[in-house]
Amino acid sequence: MLDLVLPLECGGCGAPSTRWCAACARELAVGPDVPRVVNPRIDAKVPVLALGRYAGARRQAIVAMKDHGRSDLIAPLAQALGLGVHRLLGWGLLDVPLTIVPAPTRSWAARRRGGDPVTLIATLATAGHPGIAVVRALRMKALARDSAGLGSAARERNIAGRVLLTRRRVPLGGEVLLVDDIVTTGATARESVRVLQSAGAQVSAVLALAAA
Ligand SMILES: [Zn+2]
Repeated sequence: MLDLVLPLECGGCGAPSTRWCAACARELAVGPDVPRVVNPRIDAKVPVLALGRYAGARRQAIVAMKDHGRSDLIAPLAQALGLGVHRLLGWGLLDVPLTIVPAPTRSWAARRRGGDPVTLIATLATAGHPGIAVVRALRMKALARDSAGLGSAARERNIAGRVLLTRRRVPLGGEVLLVDDIVTTGATARESVRVLQSAGAQVSAVLALAAA
């Protein structure tokens, strides 16, 4: 079924005859020192970590998933995220019970993309893991523009006051990990952390698939 709607090429490098080649899988591999701490320009007030740089196969896979309907790439990205979360648990930077809150996406953008990819990735990454739940506790007010192409000051203005709680219960028991696809200026991360904290959640860290 997938073959009928998607070209058969690697989502990371475009190589033919495979959806995700071995070389791109190696680029996405979670090394022993990953996730790494990153320092976005805007301080999120909690540690911000990323699985890698927003470049190469990682970047191509995220773009293909978000903008070109390559939902088959959710699986390799989820595998990497799952390993990253496990490593943070192993390092003692996180503890269970843990709630993963996906960073908010504008709803129309999520619909256009066939569902919120960060939520799908986080859910697949932690499926069946005892003590970890995914709660879509945040949403982006409709007025916010897609931040792609905006500079950091414009992103900050764009996001300020526009991250809102959903009707789902804010996770108050245990720790919270905010997960996003790309952390750029840190504006979305900071605003999301601020909203969760003001609702009483204990936000331990932010983990992104990639740091720009
Ligand atoms: Zn490839």
